Amino acid sequence: MVDMSQAILDSLTDQVALIDHKGTILFVNKAWIRFSDENFQDVCSNYIGLNYLHVCQENVKAGIVSVLEGKCSIYTFEYPCHSQKHLRWFLLRVTPLVVEGGELCGAVISHINITDRKLAELSLTRKEEHYRLITEHSTDFISLHTRDGCFTFASPICKNILGYEIEELLDHSIYIFLHPEDQAELQGFLKVAQFQTEIQTITYRIYRKDGSYVWFETKLKCLFTTEYQRDEFIFISRDITEQKNKMLELQAETKALKQKIYTDELTGVYNRRLLNLIVEKHIQEFQLHHQSFSLLMLDIDYFKQFNDTYGHVAGDRCLRRVAMSIKNDLGHQDFIFRVGGEEFCVLLPNTTEQEAAVIANRIRQTVESLNIPHTLSQVSPYITVSLGIYTLMQHEQQLTIGALLERADRALYKAKENGRNQTRIYS
Ligand code: GH3
Ligand code: MG
Ligand code: MG
Repeated sequence: MVDMSQAILDSLTDQVALIDHKGTILFVNKAWIRFSDENFQDVCSNYIGLNYLHVCQENVKAGIVSVLEGKCSIYTFEYPCHSQKHLRWFLLRVTPLVVEGGELCGAVISHINITDRKLAELSLTRKEEHYRLITEHSTDFISLHTRDGCFTFASPICKNILGYEIEELLDHSIYIFLHPEDQAELQGFLKVAQFQTEIQTITYRIYRKDGSYVWFETKLKCLFTTEYQRDEFIFISRDITEQKNKMLELQAETKALKQKIYTDELTGVYNRRLLNLIVEKHIQEFQLHHQSFSLLMLDIDYFKQFNDTYGHVAGDRCLRRVAMSIKNDLGHQDFIFRVGGEEFCVLLPNTTEQEAAVIANRIRQTVESLNIPHTLSQVSPYITVSLGIYTLMQHEQQLTIGALLERADRALYKAKENGRNQTRIYS
């Protein structure tokens, strides 16, 4: 039986010793001897009979004594014991040695190698330290959110970027800090993002504590934390206010520039440059989807005489009034362009020949009813216009802008020839 106990203790990789109630070593296993031989040859070669308490530091000694005196049922102590080559940590464990009959006659001392666990702990601590350093020193604002947007973590940079202390954000929904115009977008975005594994990017405005707002570009990702049965979002947000404002400025400038490029300076209606683009687009639509359109070519009657009678300035004013009245008369899908001195072109999408004729006549009446006096006109006491109509036919072969405009022009010429202040359809 004793042999069996010895064999069991020798088979353990932990170093085990038995001591009596005074601390004298009664037994050591093979692992103990091996470890001592390898590490402390010169200190002691014979262990049995030595008092273990004499080689212990004071706190360990007190712990062992408390077990020997029956004051506690276990004493543990972790300590480093590095060799020249390896880092090592051990756990000293002292438990009472109780013989049959329940008598406490000493203690079992074991030294358990816990190096692997310690190294893992160290590596984790180091990693945590790295993450902490990254989040604390990142110029991007890092935050975690519940599915409904509540802050569960906020990195310290929030104070610099937004003016808030971390505590002022935690447990609050991000939506209460958002610009009202951007709330629905972020909400919709998160709804979709919770099913996506890739990083998503969104820009929105978030209020600073001082009431101003910053533009955030946020890279976000849903973290699926199955352990707690909850999904979280990680947000990495960058203040892009400066770039965004520059971009908005640039967009406004581009828009203004486009407006300028495509607008006739005198009348404020579109110019010939845009006419070419729009007609081209409608020709393509016609080829793809057979959507027809009509073109009206329009010219003021006896305008040379008007200028001669009332002067060039009055002529310009007249051009503006005529252009504006036609523009106001058109539907929102229609376009008016000034294509020459006192010539205009109107594009009517999805409009048949008959409908175009009705619109052309209405325009003609609208212009005449402006009652702009024109004493030298031979058709009316007021300014009038003549119009030519051309509607794209389904069988049309020659589909160039020039060809289409020329047909409307020919109809206009007929209207002029026929006495002016009237509309003619191309035939
Ligand atoms: P018709 O009825 O045959 O169209 O006769 P018209 O006199 O209107 O035609 P014509 O082409 O002979 O003359 C056009 C005139 O339009 C010449 C010019 O005096 C005037 N005009 C062209 N552009 C402008 C402009 O920008 N401002 C002003 N005030 N007049 C212009
Ligand atoms: Mg004219
Ligand atoms: Mg003319």
